[in-house]
Amino acid sequence: MTNVNRYNRQTVLPEIGAEGQENLTRANVLVIGAGGLGCPVLQYLAAAGIGTIGIVDNDDVDVTNLQRQTLFTTAQQGQKKVDAAKNYLEALNPDIEIRAIPERLTADNALNLMKDYDIIADGTDNFSAKFLINDAAVKLGKPVVYGSILGFEGQSSVFWASQKDAPCYRCLHPKMPSGYVPNCAEAGTIGALAGIIGSVQAMEVIKLAAPHETLKPLTGKLWVIDAHTMETNSYSISKNPECPVCSKKPEEIKLEDENISSCAAIPSIGIAESKNKQDAIFIDVREQNEWDEDHIEGALLCPLSVLTEGTEIPIEIPSDKTCIIYCRSGKRSLKAIEILTERGHSGLINLSGGFIAWSQAA
Ligand SMILES: [Zn+2]
Repeated sequence: MTNVNRYNRQTVLPEIGAEGQENLTRANVLVIGAGGLGCPVLQYLAAAGIGTIGIVDNDDVDVTNLQRQTLFTTAQQGQKKVDAAKNYLEALNPDIEIRAIPERLTADNALNLMKDYDIIADGTDNFSAKFLINDAAVKLGKPVVYGSILGFEGQSSVFWASQKDAPCYRCLHPKMPSGYVPNCAEAGTIGALAGIIGSVQAMEVIKLAAPHETLKPLTGKLWVIDAHTMETNSYSISKNPECPVCSKKPEEIKLEDENISSCAAIPSIGIAESKNKQDAIFIDVREQNEWDEDHIEGALLCPLSVLTEGTEIPIEIPSDKTCIIYCRSGKRSLKAIEILTERGHSGLINLSGGFIAWSQAA
């Protein structure tokens, strides 16, 4: 009964109407990640009356989230994000079902978590999760509404490889990138851009859930916005006949947890604080030519290119001293720390802002 007025502003649209609203009510959508992208996706889907919404996230609300994750309040720090989100969304729209799933998506649980939903919305912020979501969705034949932001650039698309000629995410990115994967605080973003991309994703979910001949989802297209200028572009992406995932039969697709840890777990140090660390050892992971131009006095050179080759580490890394790892801007150093940590070195600290920030502070 409450529905008539609640959804009036969208049901008056001929493209939606009563039938479209029925479709939205019947839809099951899984939103993976209740972060910068997931929050606006969830907010607009709940408001639009998507009948069942699952939320997968195992993080707690942290003060650094509040700059862009608009479902959470200062007082909710420390609460499970899925619980805080569920509370908010149920207050917004009590007529729908919200399922809070406080888990991290893994190769083991992905199929099980995703199988009961019609549409998957990807609100994650790292390549490993995006690959896993893609591979599981291709295996299950489900559409993924993709979103991603980095700095001032945002992207969205709909990957639905079981549709004729439609590509999957791996048609665009066949493999995990081998260099630094900016997936955390180091990359930085403006909350409003997450809001823009999350809103685009919510729009795409609604178009998939309530199809109409005039509504064309971003299947086979990558929509990109550069928030520096607000210029937008839409690129065609075609299905790659050699795609490592969607060219296979569903039963041949194997799910794996890609071994790239979240750099959120890597401790970092600011320039001023690092300059006060008298006994710390600085390790420069830039390349030889960059080192030759200039470097921190007393530092050791250990280029990332050498580390990624997997050969012997060219320097002795002292285990009894604080080791601060730096590169040009603080990104390659994160990758270097991941590699060194995998090889048994612990307690390595990333120099925030890298050599650029160091030189500017000199
Ligand atoms: Zn593919």
